[in-house]
Amino acid sequence: MNELLSRAAPLRMRPRVLVPADPRRPRGAPVGTEAVVVGGGIAGISAAVVLAERGVAVTLVEAADTLGGRLGAWPHTLPDGTEQVVEHGFHAFFRHYYTWRAMLRRIDPELSFLRPVGGYPVISREWPAEDLTGLPGSPPLNLVALFARSPSLGLRDLLSSNQSLAAQLLAYDRARTTARFDEMPAAEFLASLGMSDRAQAMLFEAFARSFFADPGALSAAELIAMFHYYFLGNPEGIGFDAPDTDHLTCIWAPFRTYLESLGAEVLTGSRVSAITPVDRHLWQVEIDAAPSLRTRHLVLATDPGALRDLVAGSPDTRVAAPKLARKAAAIEVAPPFAVTRLWLDRDVAAERATFNAVSREPTLDSVTIYSRLERPSAEWAARTGGSVVELHSYACDAPDVDAATARMRAELAALWPETAAAEVVHVAQRMEATAPTWPPGGAGTRPAVTGDARGVRIAGDHVDSPFLTGLMERASLTGVLAANDILDEVGAGPEEILGVPQRGLLARR
Ligand SMILES: Cc1cc2nc3c(=O)[nH]c(=O)nc-3n(C[C@H](O)[C@H](O)[C@H](O)COP(=O)(O)OP(=O)(O)OC[C@H]3O[C@@H](n4cnc5c(N)ncnc54)[C@H](O)[C@@H]3O)c2cc1C
Repeated sequence: MNELLSRAAPLRMRPRVLVPADPRRPRGAPVGTEAVVVGGGIAGISAAVVLAERGVAVTLVEAADTLGGRLGAWPHTLPDGTEQVVEHGFHAFFRHYYTWRAMLRRIDPELSFLRPVGGYPVISREWPAEDLTGLPGSPPLNLVALFARSPSLGLRDLLSSNQSLAAQLLAYDRARTTARFDEMPAAEFLASLGMSDRAQAMLFEAFARSFFADPGALSAAELIAMFHYYFLGNPEGIGFDAPDTDHLTCIWAPFRTYLESLGAEVLTGSRVSAITPVDRHLWQVEIDAAPSLRTRHLVLATDPGALRDLVAGSPDTRVAAPKLARKAAAIEVAPPFAVTRLWLDRDVAAERATFNAVSREPTLDSVTIYSRLERPSAEWAARTGGSVVELHSYACDAPDVDAATARMRAELAALWPETAAAEVVHVAQRMEATAPTWPPGGAGTRPAVTGDARGVRIAGDHVDSPFLTGLMERASLTGVLAANDILDEVGAGPEEILGVPQRGLLARR
């Protein structure tokens, strides 16, 4: 404890420049530069936007009918005829997502569609709710404040915990943390900290599961890295915002318009079935039911399982790019996630928070009251007297989506009794396995943005990034890194990239 306090940083943390712009190099790419980006989620859009802004002729190829991938949204008609747009699910737009927010400023310079969500309570059947918002913005004060304020932890817990292990949370250093903790499951690390079961459940398990894994299936190194990224090393504190309308209206339709205004071609409903190296360092991109494309600069910005399948289905690539083939074949995908949106005939209790992380339920991991979050749901609720509630399960072991919905609904009724008697007017549900996984021992096995195959860059939230980042921001940041590598090859300067301090307060030099 003394060690923690004596090395306290007196200054507030600031974002770091991870990649500086280079004013000595031209901003624009040479005339005639082209690129093909496969995948129209956050990673693909981020790569395409940077390239198109620099004058590169970009073709963006997306398999689904709508852009957005796991942040995507599509029209949906309710039984009463109301047109709504439903999404893959609630997303927290953290304030330290510097790259993704810079991207979003292209379509809304003031980010006026984002609204603070308010508190971030963790709720459970066993213990009172805990709220992680509003803690100080620099270490170790944020850690000390957490211990002092949290009802499940006291300063005594900090003093009696295994301090040399607890200090590892403040000592994040990519190389050292990985070397020491990558093989260890996060559950084992948490158990050996010596904290109470309540503290583990309320503070760490719910956090670990938002990375689509049970703590037993998550690497302790990844948990420590993410604890630094989202909490201890986050210059903005742990606050986040969310869109005040659906993602199609505020994000994906404007991005499509923006890209097309820059001359990019956006192909939706176009699945890439194979990639083949051809003469003069070009890649041929085969598209289902559309003419193939040829490119010198290929960005693969798919979800992890799709990258594995695409490379497996591209025999010539497996021969010409063995490193990429080896890494792609080794990609593991997280267990399925389930998202169920319920239109209920009545409101939930007034004191419920808009977004709630859930601890220690077998299936349910979060609850969001959409009718208090976004305008279209609020309008439906005001008209009908009902409410719109979304339930998430991040590592779901239900046999199918109906079972997942039934389980989450029953668990919600136990947590919020007023929902037990509510009639479900309509359900939209989805279960799929497209998220990356960070198992113990996984370091060094993932595809990197560059260097795995000539002319091919890989982007996405599953990709090994040289900079500490997570989830949506990891997708965006790797997309910009992919674009920067292409710009570098053609002689143009990089896009600036900001991030959090990359090392913990106690990390040794
Ligand atoms: C329920 C849920 C909640 C989440 N909550 C949060 C949150 O609160 N905060 C946060 O930061 N992150 C959150 N995430 C994670 C976030 O959604 C992802 O990190 C991010 O969207 C990943 O973007 P991506 O571009 O890497 O991949 P994706 O979004 O998966 O995009 C990949 C795209 O590639 C396309 N594609 C795949 N194969 C092909 C092919 N062969 N040809 C053409 N196109 C292809 C896919 O259709 C898809 O559109 C959440 C995710 C889920 C599922």
